[in-house]
Amino acid sequence: MKEGSLKISIGHLYPKHLNLYGDMGNIITLTKRCEWRGIDVEYDPIGVGDRIKEHDLYFIGGGQDRQQIEVAEELYKHKEFLQEERDNNAVFLGICGGYQLFGHYYQPFDGDKLKGISLLDVYTVAGKKRFIGNVTVETDFLTPKTLVGFENHSGLTYLQGDTKPLGEVAVGNGNNGEDKTEGAQYKNVFGTYLHGSLLPKNPNFADYLIELALEKRYGEKIVLKKLDDELELATHNSLVGKAY
Ligand code: GLN
Repeated sequence: MKEGSLKISIGHLYPKHLNLYGDMGNIITLTKRCEWRGIDVEYDPIGVGDRIKEHDLYFIGGGQDRQQIEVAEELYKHKEFLQEERDNNAVFLGICGGYQLFGHYYQPFDGDKLKGISLLDVYTVAGKKRFIGNVTVETDFLTPKTLVGFENHSGLTYLQGDTKPLGEVAVGNGNNGEDKTEGAQYKNVFGTYLHGSLLPKNPNFADYLIELALEKRYGEKIVLKKLDDELELATHNSLVGKAY
């Protein structure tokens, strides 16, 4: 199937509430990397009260506890639908606060436990310390294998069952600053603490997600043509291993 006839649809969950530290940059990256290849993108910003349509890829950004409280109750209404989407191989990317709501629950420092939608077998409890700084992660599924980004969270996330991390923390704290894991993945669901925004500096991961979304839509593996990522990879490589 030639690339020009391809399309993916992206559902952006609650961008007015969860879009901390420029997480919208992830949507811009996915959209541009598709458009540069002649792949059409249907972008669907989903607000509180909206019905959620079927999409190939869903994205949710991060936010302070207050925004998470506003979104959690609304997102929970769509738990069954989004779990079905997960089981139909839709791609999900959740950043920080959005990642936390992909798990079973997030227990903020003050206030009631927020129910998550259990796309990932993880849970999060707020810690006393806020993790702030650069992060480098070593993955076993990307080329180059590294992911770089910025973390700012007090939540401590713990993986359960057969949930795999995105990778091992080489620099920074990651999920909880204890078990050297960062992020989580199960089926085509990916969660991470990496802001920055994440995908502009990690074209390897952006293309990985686009190929998964195309495979979900067309039922076959579609290998994307390479782009000139000299600038993106120079930025990526300048951050690998950097704490400050
Ligand atoms: N409020 C959550 C925490 O502090 C998530 C923060 C974020 O999205 N950066 O852990």
